[in-house]
Amino acid sequence: MTHALMDDHVFYSWSAQAEIDPMVITGAHGSRIRDDAGNEYLDFSSQLVFTNLGHGHPRVVRAIQEQAELLCTLAPQHATGVRSEAARLIAGLAPDGLEKVFFTNGGADANEHAIRMARLHTGRPKVLSAYRSYHGGTQTAVNVTGDPRRWPSDTGTAGVVRFFGPFRYRSEFHAETEEQECARALAHLRRTIEAEGPATIAAIILETIPGTAGIMPPPPGYLPGVRELCDRFGIVLILDEVMAGFGRAGAWFALDRYDVRPDLITFAKGVNSGYVPLGGVVISDAIADTFAHTPYPGGLTYSGHPLATAAAVAAINAMTDEGTVANADRLGRDLLGPGLRELAEKHPVIGDVRGVGVFWAVELVADRDTREPLPVADTLAVVAACRRAGLLPFTTANRLHLVPPCNVPDADVTTALGMLDGALSSGS
Ligand code: PLP
Repeated sequence: MTHALMDDHVFYSWSAQAEIDPMVITGAHGSRIRDDAGNEYLDFSSQLVFTNLGHGHPRVVRAIQEQAELLCTLAPQHATGVRSEAARLIAGLAPDGLEKVFFTNGGADANEHAIRMARLHTGRPKVLSAYRSYHGGTQTAVNVTGDPRRWPSDTGTAGVVRFFGPFRYRSEFHAETEEQECARALAHLRRTIEAEGPATIAAIILETIPGTAGIMPPPPGYLPGVRELCDRFGIVLILDEVMAGFGRAGAWFALDRYDVRPDLITFAKGVNSGYVPLGGVVISDAIADTFAHTPYPGGLTYSGHPLATAAAVAAINAMTDEGTVANADRLGRDLLGPGLRELAEKHPVIGDVRGVGVFWAVELVADRDTREPLPVADTLAVVAACRRAGLLPFTTANRLHLVPPCNVPDADVTTALGMLDGALSSGS
């Protein structure tokens, strides 16, 4: 099959259709993928940051095959073993008091449903979200999204109010220390709540660690401070763990790194390494009680799909048995984080290195002092040099995100750092 033939009928996401020139991928294994010319790449994008167990993990593949033979599909009103077991395992990873799981097909619809639950639970209309965020491509999810991908779909009627979260490298609050940034971001959020009218606000939705917007781990006091504001004003706290969860941040949920207990957690991607589409909402007892005798007005044909939940059960069990989450934490602390910081010392084009676990951003700048972002064309030149060297990072704006699988071999990390070093020398 030729490239042109294959592409004639696929309408691509987020793209001008006449301008797209996708890589043609023919196979993948672990942290490596192959294109149709036989080139092999280290997949440090984990695709869209979801192959947390790498490509083709045998236990997950086998679980899908076995489930397909046993019971390939099932409507959501029925109970079945893998659906119940996936919910039990996922609730077991969440903080105590979040015991129910509503399954969706992915991350955007998880956020849609979390927001619907919060609105029905509180009887309030508005949702507060951060400008530096991505929450999905469906209507409500893209409206709570802060980044400019929202603009073409922003109806302005979704009852969404946005605010700035903490991000010291590009502070909106003129902060010089992390403590100042945290305190000022919380004061700004409190003023936003007060000015909007607390009794009109159903929920605050935040990525625990904002991902696509730049991998910005919040200061330690920020999320507990948001929790306090939510408690004070009766607002539901939704933490979006779609990208940061399931080992990515070196913890089962990124929120485990902070002293915070949300009311709703949304997840997708790494829950089963994206082998079969799956997302969901983990629900607090109080919100679940709202729907104990009043029907929840929402559902999906494929909610808790047997193939997807079988993959989740296998993925979570494999991650547990193989120590995958602890490995991601170690990689961040001992290898990937220090390696990227070393590159920053050598290459002035690196303005900032941020991250945790296997969740790292390298921010490219035209000028280290002014922090002016590297122009897109120059960033793309670095990306092209990476690709020529055999490295596939996740790229957005003036950043490279180095987000390999949680079980990437140490040797692959070392090789990737060498490739990036070479690309920064030649491409920037
Ligand atoms: N939330 C976050 C934090 C994400 O990163 C994404 C996707 O990248 C989504 C939600 C949307 O997930 P999906 O594309 O599965 O709908």
